[in-house]
Amino acid sequence: MSSLSVTPPERLKTPLTVPQRHMFGPGPSNVPPRILEAGAKPVIGHMHPEIFEIMSDIKSGIQYMFQTQNNMTLAVSGTGHTAMECAIFNAVEPGDSVLTAVNGIWGERAAEMAERIGAKVNRIVAPPGGFFTTSEIEQALSTYRPVLFFLAHGESSTGVLHPLDDIGHLCHRYNCLLLVDSVASIGGAPVYMDKQGIDILYTGSQKVLNAPPGTAPISFSERACQKIFKRKSKPVSFFLDLSWLANYWGCDGKPTRIYHHTGPVTAFYSLRESLSVLAEEGLENSWERHQNVAEYFHNGLEKMGLKLFVKEKSARLPTVTTIVAPRGYNWKEITTYIMKTHNLEISGGLGPSVGLVLRVGLMGCNSSRANVDMVLAALKDALRHCHKSKV
Ligand code: PMP
Repeated sequence: MSSLSVTPPERLKTPLTVPQRHMFGPGPSNVPPRILEAGAKPVIGHMHPEIFEIMSDIKSGIQYMFQTQNNMTLAVSGTGHTAMECAIFNAVEPGDSVLTAVNGIWGERAAEMAERIGAKVNRIVAPPGGFFTTSEIEQALSTYRPVLFFLAHGESSTGVLHPLDDIGHLCHRYNCLLLVDSVASIGGAPVYMDKQGIDILYTGSQKVLNAPPGTAPISFSERACQKIFKRKSKPVSFFLDLSWLANYWGCDGKPTRIYHHTGPVTAFYSLRESLSVLAEEGLENSWERHQNVAEYFHNGLEKMGLKLFVKEKSARLPTVTTIVAPRGYNWKEITTYIMKTHNLEISGGLGPSVGLVLRVGLMGCNSSRANVDMVLAALKDALRHCHKSKV
């Protein structure tokens, strides 16, 4: 008689099966064989010297991708949210004033994270699809005097690419750090961390980088480090404490690294490979490719009679396109039809854009004219076959 009260699940006795799909939603994107193969290499210890070399390659790849010389540059073990919390939990102390720009879901999430650690949070709010002028931002900085201002460069819930020029230097005039979310934009649209005066910048591995989800590049300016390392209280999270992470990533100048957590070594292999792919293509070529493909896509949508959700052309995110949900249709029926019939993922809205838009992400290796043609054909087919009400 077995002592176990829970028996082995029957399903686990069948082999793992995973479908091949066109991943054209807002993420994750498809992972090309080269990056998948990198992640299938043998596991070695997370403190072996070879891993430290791989981590150092990752660090320089991130510095290139972010266009920064910051020494405090690393990848957090976790998804984009982990990097968001790493930024906020380290840079903000209880009672600090924080300002977030809300023009979709991400500014709201950042606000909630800061509130959870006892910050005084204020928001500036723009309607979904909109963005902020420099003078609106300046007005809020002068009213609330925050220590940190959060801005999403690529607002993936609404499809907005926020202008970045001047904002970093403006924040510095108000003695405020600029935190920028580039999860949906990095590699697909220009970001110059140092030149633009961004103090903390983070992204995720699963969008333009085409690596599996689970690692999140992040970088801190000297100004951000000064605030963080002069804190009076310890950050609320041990796992995300920058002094520990800095040591693990060899950014603190100390001769030895102390065990903090077991780094996801195979995820580091994939991340390194994805950064190699980006370095080989060249950032400027990648930006240009994403922009050209996005314009080709947007023209094709307009020719079909569909409308783009973001009115201002220059504020359209080249990686994630938001299409006004076609009148008379149920958006869910469209996405379900396309998945079933074309084996292709596109998605509906998120947060404030639910019901208002369809979202299509063409990121990294997925950003090509051939894929645009495939999405346009799938949309045409869906609009012919899905139920359309008379109103
Ligand atoms: N910020 C933006 C702009 C995003 O698009 C996402 C992912 N959709 C995140 C943050 C969060 O990333 P993750 O899902 O990897 O935690």
